[in-house]
Amino acid sequence: MSSSETSAAVAIGIDLGTTYSCVSVFQHGKVEIIANDHGNRVTPSIVAFTDTERLIGDAAKNQAAMNPSNTVFDAKRLIGRPFKDPLVQADMKNWPFEVVDDGQGKPVIKVEYKGKTKRFIPEEISSMVLTKMKETAEAYLGTTVSNAVITVPAFFSMAQRQATKDAGTIAGLKVLRIISEPVSAALAYGLNKSSNTESHVLVFDLGGGTFDVSVLKLEKGVFEVKSTAGDTHLGGEDFDNRLVDHFVAEFKRQHKRDISTNKRALRRLRTACERAKRVLSTAMQTSIEIDSFYEGIDFSAVFTRAHLEELCSDLFLSTLGPVERALNDAKLTKSQIDEVVLVGGSTRIPKVQALMQNFFNGKQLNKSVNADEAVAYGAAVQAAMISGHSSLPMLKDVRLISVTPLSLGVGVVSGAVSTVIERNTAIPARKTASFQTPYDYETSILFDVYEGERMMKKDNNYLDGFKLTGIPSALQGVQQIEVTFEIDDNGILAITAQEKSTGKKNGITIQSDKWRLSKDKIALFVEEAKKYRLEDDRHRERVKVFNAFLDYAHQMKHTLAAENWQKV
Ligand code: AMP
Repeated sequence: MSSSETSAAVAIGIDLGTTYSCVSVFQHGKVEIIANDHGNRVTPSIVAFTDTERLIGDAAKNQAAMNPSNTVFDAKRLIGRPFKDPLVQADMKNWPFEVVDDGQGKPVIKVEYKGKTKRFIPEEISSMVLTKMKETAEAYLGTTVSNAVITVPAFFSMAQRQATKDAGTIAGLKVLRIISEPVSAALAYGLNKSSNTESHVLVFDLGGGTFDVSVLKLEKGVFEVKSTAGDTHLGGEDFDNRLVDHFVAEFKRQHKRDISTNKRALRRLRTACERAKRVLSTAMQTSIEIDSFYEGIDFSAVFTRAHLEELCSDLFLSTLGPVERALNDAKLTKSQIDEVVLVGGSTRIPKVQALMQNFFNGKQLNKSVNADEAVAYGAAVQAAMISGHSSLPMLKDVRLISVTPLSLGVGVVSGAVSTVIERNTAIPARKTASFQTPYDYETSILFDVYEGERMMKKDNNYLDGFKLTGIPSALQGVQQIEVTFEIDDNGILAITAQEKSTGKKNGITIQSDKWRLSKDKIALFVEEAKKYRLEDDRHRERVKVFNAFLDYAHQMKHTLAAENWQKV
């Protein structure tokens, strides 16, 4: 390690994915992707609870079919969303585990753990996955790791970003920064390019649960995000769902049996469908076989690539909308894009690639970055830069310029939102807008802050609100109030309102929305997390002792048998 590397505490990069997560570190002048205790470079974002223990990652995935209602996945689809969110309601139909309202509008996951009913918020489940990634890095590096950069989809709202950050805190991590997945992937793509000329790159990132498109301008080490678009709820799992729905209907037609309420059968079918989908990225046809699938009946089906494409055609096509939006927002035409970089496991699907290639008039797509690891790679680079390695030659000139993914504004009396900062504005940013008193003789105004692209308040995300008082009494429209929105490098939004005639001011800093966990709650979850980790350690220790005892008993048996044999 060079001296500049040893001088700062080690910081890791974590790609916290919907289906898989990946951890990496920048050391010895390069990025290393770290394999977990199963030897895998990606870890399933799955946590399972059993009568005796808690399992995270591969171990959780391996037992999913036997324990479907206590095997939790997709926490990323829940995080930072209210229980009533239509997407949460739709997803719940596909999950074998139970999700309920916590009484305050937030979703909680209900499982049986060691014979007791336990409730976990999505942040806690994500924190467990993050803990696994932290421990994976610690085992590899042989040291404690506390600092991390975590990635999120570019299109994540403030609430989703903050909830992800909270998950990191609960996992015992100091979250140096939350960065966008496509920006991270672009770093992986562009870091080794020493081009001095300006180029435009479109990162097309289709993963397990989310879809992101970002257009970046790369020039002399500066990575400037021009625009970002996407769908926080589109990915490989949606394709899997289509396949599962199809085969449930097919099984019903053939065998007159409905498996849609049998969690174990559904889990086994889902795993088989995902496998078949992957196979069909290279083969034209595959077969799905599940022994003793339901009531002793075996499941057997031949499945073709054409059929997969037919079942998912609208989903595949829906990726084009965000691509067009991102190009429009970046004020670029298709032909001005120099590289289309593919990231995320689902970009291996030939039809997805064909649609993209066709959209870009036959352009060769860039598959130079590892689809599963690029995001974590970039996160490690960012982590190294923030934690003091930016003097390394490779990172010396690297600079990231990000944008706000969603428009920000204040609610007005008509029920609409008046935008102050447009989406895709480069951050840090500062914008001021003028407002007037909406009614006669009004001496105070409530400013409600929203995030989103819709016209009306009710359709956007409410972030927070504050009141400006002491406005001199006058007729409607006389008093002018200047509202300033300021976003810093970390995406933290500060808002001030100032009445012009008196200079009276008030303001707030929004780090998240009303869904944010309080400091006390986080501290409580941190303690809980420690407790669970300790229980895991104790369980592992007990299993070790028990295995050692079994070994010993085994040995004794052999020794005694050998002795008796000699006596004979
Ligand atoms: P990611 O979040 O980028 O790790 O992507 C995971 C998603 O990619 C999952 O839904 C996988 O089923 C999907 N995936 C991985 N490999 C392939 C493949 N060869 N063909 C189709 N989908 C894949």
